[in-house]
Amino acid sequence: MTEPPARLPHPRRHWTPGTCWRCEAREVPVLWLGPVQTSSGTGSFTACDPCVRRLETYVRRELALRDTAPAF
Ligand SMILES: [Zn+2]
Repeated sequence: MTEPPARLPHPRRHWTPGTCWRCEAREVPVLWLGPVQTSSGTGSFTACDPCVRRLETYVRRELALRDTAPAF
């Protein structure tokens, strides 16, 4: 079994106590991932470590698909 790749440092990676907007866990360390725009306005999307890892999987999949998409 291979180890997952080390996470790259990110200048805005700052874990703070809060609520995960993905799994709704409360009072856990969360990371700000970006703004969320809805019809009600813009919010700050934060997620806990397990959810961040899951979202990173989605991002890696999307990037892999983008890299293999034909160029037009
Ligand atoms: Zn979560």
